[in-house]
Amino acid sequence: EDDVDAAVQSAKKAFPKWSALDPRERAKYMFRIARRIQERARELAVLESMDGGKPIAESRDVDIPLAAAHFFYHAGWCDKLKYVFPGADPKPIGVCGHIIPWNFPLLMAAWKLAPALACGNTCVLKPAETTSLTTLRLAAILEEIELPPGVVNIITGAGATGQLLVNHPHVRKIAFTGSTEVGKHIAKACASTDKKLTLELGGKSPNIIFEDASIDQAIEGIIQGIYFNQGHVCCAGSRLFVAESSLDEVIAKLTHRMKSLRVGDPLDKNTDIGAINSKAQLATIHKYLDAGRGEGATFHEVNRQPLASKGYWCRPCFFTDVQPSHTIARDEIFGPVLAVMSFRTPEEALTRANNTPYGLAAGVWTDKGSKIFEIARKLKAGVIWCNTYNRFDPASPFGGFKESGFGREGGMHGLRAYVDL
Ligand code: NAD
Repeated sequence: EDDVDAAVQSAKKAFPKWSALDPRERAKYMFRIARRIQERARELAVLESMDGGKPIAESRDVDIPLAAAHFFYHAGWCDKLKYVFPGADPKPIGVCGHIIPWNFPLLMAAWKLAPALACGNTCVLKPAETTSLTTLRLAAILEEIELPPGVVNIITGAGATGQLLVNHPHVRKIAFTGSTEVGKHIAKACASTDKKLTLELGGKSPNIIFEDASIDQAIEGIIQGIYFNQGHVCCAGSRLFVAESSLDEVIAKLTHRMKSLRVGDPLDKNTDIGAINSKAQLATIHKYLDAGRGEGATFHEVNRQPLASKGYWCRPCFFTDVQPSHTIARDEIFGPVLAVMSFRTPEEALTRANNTPYGLAAGVWTDKGSKIFEIARKLKAGVIWCNTYNRFDPASPFGGFKESGFGREGGMHGLRAYVDL
């Protein structure tokens, strides 16, 4: 409690000077952070993979470059905020509390800190208890680039620490990424205060393959969509809807491709699927695999490559004969598990894809541009990828519908959460 209070007081003390700083000077600090992340990219990538278990190829090619990109992108906004909100006079809001999950530790830190700092706020950030290393390294980087003391404060700890941050009276805004369950607690805690709140929560995102899609391309996207980062991705394409006439071909090609995926040492650059983040998460995944089998779906674990004896491994797998009522079709599993279903008409695909309390992302695979627009318009999801999946860019807003949360991160839309108009 004392540490949380000290961090918030430190951010509060730093706020007047940081918020009054010439925005072009603020931008210089942010460019420096971005460049230092690039300079330290190898070290950060190794640290991220050692800590969280994701393949080094992903940390190296996705997490770290995107984290740097977020600081570069937002550095550019520092002195242009008045153009984002024409006619308004955007002011920073004060101390922002950031709580992030374990699946993209440094990247999630960048998603939160970059827009907050660009708008002139000061921050207290709490990484997840299982993955604090890269955010602590980021704290060292912030010292190296001589960011004024108190502008960013990093505290470690589990849920109770997060709760103290949420409830601290001097925190003016909470940005949370994590599970829907915890998101609901935080929403309740903030409801009786004047704190601003944005929530990025869970998902059960659908991928829809139409009969006219390029199936080979779609398979790569589906694999990317569900097995990327062991399926520890909020927007993982965990439900696959396939046009009935293409189902056999899709299953055959999925099986073939899945056999070749390498599960193993996260620090080996040839690894496709690294380690599950924790013993508890592996147990959760197994609970869902049991539920899938128990409720009558057909389990396919086609990848038989040997696994190392030590470590939390989960082979990529999928289920067929899945009913919409099955647990594996409804709950977020957060593991490399795909539920495959078929449809006969585009209307049926849409109805079933939207039949979820979540609404984070979706994918559409078809050769017809008109169908892409028609379907994407009717899908209830914050991000919709067409003939691709899991592509991110700091200029593009990201966020959910329904129980996947509210507010956007990234792009001009993401700045709104960090200013008083
Ligand atoms: P989690 O909700 O258990 O924890 C997230 C963070 O909240 C951690 O830092 C944790 O310590 C903290 N926390 C836990 N209880 C708290 C409380 N009562 N008050 C304040 N803070 C608390 O989630 P997780 O298991 O770490 O991450 C997985 C979840 O995150 C998945 O549901 C996934 O979909 C979601 N996620 C969403 C996005 C997105 O952008 N929508 C991105 C990544 C992950």
